[in-house]
Amino acid sequence: MSDHIDPKKLDRLAEVAVRIGVNLRKGQDLVITAPTDALPLVQRIAVHAYKAGAGLVIPLFSDDQITLARYQHAPDESFDRAPDWMFEAMGKAFEGGAARMAIASEDPLLLADIDPDKVARASKAQSIARQPAMKPIVGFEVNWNIVAYPGAAWAKTVYPDLPVAEAQGKLMDAIYDASRLAGDDPVANWEAHTAELKKRVNWLNAQKFDALHYTGPGTDLMLGLAEGHIWKGGASPALNGITCQPNIPTEEVFTCPHAYRVDGRVSATKPLAHQGTVIRDISVRFEAGKIVEASASEGEDVFRDLLKVDDGASRIGEVALVPHSSPISQSGTLFYNTLFDENASCHIALGQSYADTVEGGSELAPEELKQKGANQSLIHVDWMMGSDAVDIDGVTKTGERVPVMRSGEWAN
Ligand code: ZN
Ligand code: ZN
Repeated sequence: MSDHIDPKKLDRLAEVAVRIGVNLRKGQDLVITAPTDALPLVQRIAVHAYKAGAGLVIPLFSDDQITLARYQHAPDESFDRAPDWMFEAMGKAFEGGAARMAIASEDPLLLADIDPDKVARASKAQSIARQPAMKPIVGFEVNWNIVAYPGAAWAKTVYPDLPVAEAQGKLMDAIYDASRLAGDDPVANWEAHTAELKKRVNWLNAQKFDALHYTGPGTDLMLGLAEGHIWKGGASPALNGITCQPNIPTEEVFTCPHAYRVDGRVSATKPLAHQGTVIRDISVRFEAGKIVEASASEGEDVFRDLLKVDDGASRIGEVALVPHSSPISQSGTLFYNTLFDENASCHIALGQSYADTVEGGSELAPEELKQKGANQSLIHVDWMMGSDAVDIDGVTKTGERVPVMRSGEWAN
């Protein structure tokens, strides 16, 4: 581990991830997926998990160099395969009551020089195989959490002018601040923050908007909301009854858009780091919910391939509001990691919706969810389209307009 990473900060991150993030229960197993880079954090998480009474802590590691070795040397057939047996085992673990934790620390540029066709094939095979492990997560059946570790390559991308060990130390500090861990009592920080998010959620739910209208540079978008959509944000109970904080950090309130009622043009306000490629200056046009035109100044091939994964990949499944004054946005740092960048900006996600953002959604069949406008896809990719130049109006069923955001801030 870089000796610039403050071990006290690392330990607090691990403790908060276990106690507030996943809120692990006595006797509960914990499945952790992490890059080998993040081993020091996983070790601290294991300590706090067992102190909290974990049954078994099961880490499953990936490794950037091994991933690269595959893209450079594996036979062509390799790129249409994924370890379905592993994802089935993970699905079984969740069915049996295990909680889930993921550590984000990937190199945003890992696959920048790899043939995008190989990347698209491998990621499609992965998305299909991973369904048994993802279903309990998107359906919010189990308590889960994702936190970040300042991996070397990631840190170097964020702070290219610093020596790598120093960059990691600085990224640790940024993760610590963004994750609201500073001060004497991070638990109290998170309680206050959750209360603030709930206030916004309650206001938005009371409005029962039919659509949101976004205007800004390169953006004029009428975004319909799903029938019976529910705004969510901050900690909430999973179907197993355990209240968890899925993302650390989190600044968003979000809900389910209508997959067939989105029209107009929208331009991204930040680059999107997606599976080892950075996609810049995305601009798309929607017609009846489907993206019919798409461009990007960099990574356009990767973006177009992503839209082709399935029918739902060119429609949206999440809409989220984040004020421009959020601490991550104010830090001015571009993280090249969605967990952070999406929490600095209003965003939408291509692909799969969250069943629990529609009233009674967890009990509805896929066909019923679709009728309400909830999108279905193998992918879920968030991209950022908010800034201090974007205004948002809520539009009611009768066409009345209510200001929701002005110049990137809450209008009330
Ligand atoms: Zn989001
Ligand atoms: Zn999302």
